[in-house]
Amino acid sequence: MCQGIQEFIHLEFQHCDATGTADWFDIHGKLFRNASGQPAYVLGTSEIITNRVKASQEMVKNNRLKALGEMAAGISHNLNNILMGILGPAQILQSNLTDPDLLEDVDTIYKSGLRARDLVKRLYRGVGNLQEILTPVEVNQTISEALKTTRSRWKDDAEARGITIAVTTQLANNLPSVKGTPSGLHEILLNLIFNAVDAMPQGGSITIATINEANHVTVSITDTGVGMDEQTRSRIFEPFFTTKMNVGTGLGLATVYGILKRWENTITVDSTPGKGTTFTFFLQPWRSSENQSPDGAPVLSAPQSKSLIVEDDETVGRTLPRMLKNQHDITWVNTPSQALNLPNLNQYSAILIDLGLPGMRGDQLAEALKKQNVTAPFILITGWHLDETDPKRAPFDFYLQKPLVSLNEIQTTIAQAIQKKFTS
Ligand code: ADP
Ligand code: MG
Repeated sequence: MCQGIQEFIHLEFQHCDATGTADWFDIHGKLFRNASGQPAYVLGTSEIITNRVKASQEMVKNNRLKALGEMAAGISHNLNNILMGILGPAQILQSNLTDPDLLEDVDTIYKSGLRARDLVKRLYRGVGNLQEILTPVEVNQTISEALKTTRSRWKDDAEARGITIAVTTQLANNLPSVKGTPSGLHEILLNLIFNAVDAMPQGGSITIATINEANHVTVSITDTGVGMDEQTRSRIFEPFFTTKMNVGTGLGLATVYGILKRWENTITVDSTPGKGTTFTFFLQPWRSSENQSPDGAPVLSAPQSKSLIVEDDETVGRTLPRMLKNQHDITWVNTPSQALNLPNLNQYSAILIDLGLPGMRGDQLAEALKKQNVTAPFILITGWHLDETDPKRAPFDFYLQKPLVSLNEIQTTIAQAIQKKFTS
């Protein structure tokens, strides 16, 4: 036996064998050094801990995505109020201005506001825990539509840059409809196709395939682009992670991941630097016993009426009455106690209430008003995304999502609420 100095060691390390398989090892033991102080050998136990390390990496990743999700929900809620203060007045100006130059400026404000709203929505769709009503979706048909929508990017733009991107599909026949939403699947495909195009600055090919498997439908998108190294690959689903300086938002794959997660599906990625990338995701077949979503609500015109809005955000409180002034006489109060103390509350045909209010939440206010025998229908207006089963929605007859920009949607909802009041 080698005589020498001994000390205890605990090591965790990754080792790659000749086949390229990397495993994590945990070694506890005594390190023996030779007479010249060099490590000679370790006497102890060695354990393969690859699964444990992967699970903890996965947990860190999930926690990071969860924290980002909460942050995104908070940001979108605040931005939705701010956006109402931009989009609402822009619409009021649009219908009052005649000077074409000013109209053009207002149009720019309005369009930029809409873009910001879409960005907020995308951020939320990607990382929030938004609930949707799932319907049967035709996968092959949605792929054809996504290819049409993206055609200018992979065909016209590519040709203009002097490169060729060939797109092929290998679509399985007789695919069952899957559980999802057509717009969600469309968005997933768009993001994956755009990324494939971005990954092939010298041209190449994209192949989209569908496979009908026993318990699911598999969709894969393969490109022959630049691929990714391991470090990039491990972060691609994080919101705002991008390697496309100045042009990327880093929200594409976060959105894809978020949508698939909501549908309880997964996505995998296989990539080789310099060779290309394949994204593969799985969709569950639609079972006919599942409920279909209700049809879109009919568009009604709102009669002239008196409504009340309880909203602590000044921008929203001032903007909404002005947006609706031709149809509704709207009284705005900014606290629940003001609302509760208003005389003759039954003069209002509809009561719109924000959720976060000083002193009392919007749903609690609605309950309190009901106790005072207020008969008007209650409409919840909120920048939070609440799913249909959320108890905070229970006291309300209708729900409007901020930012409220579509005059038609607001009017239709108020009209429905009023109609409900007079027919029930
Ligand atoms: P963005 O496209 O705005 O950068 P994404 O979330 O869509 O954001 O993608 C994040 C990153 O993932 C990209 O910046 C890129 O580095 C990498 N990536 C995504 N798809 C591919 C692909 N098909 N080939 C190579 N890299 C990709
Ligand atoms: Mg992208």
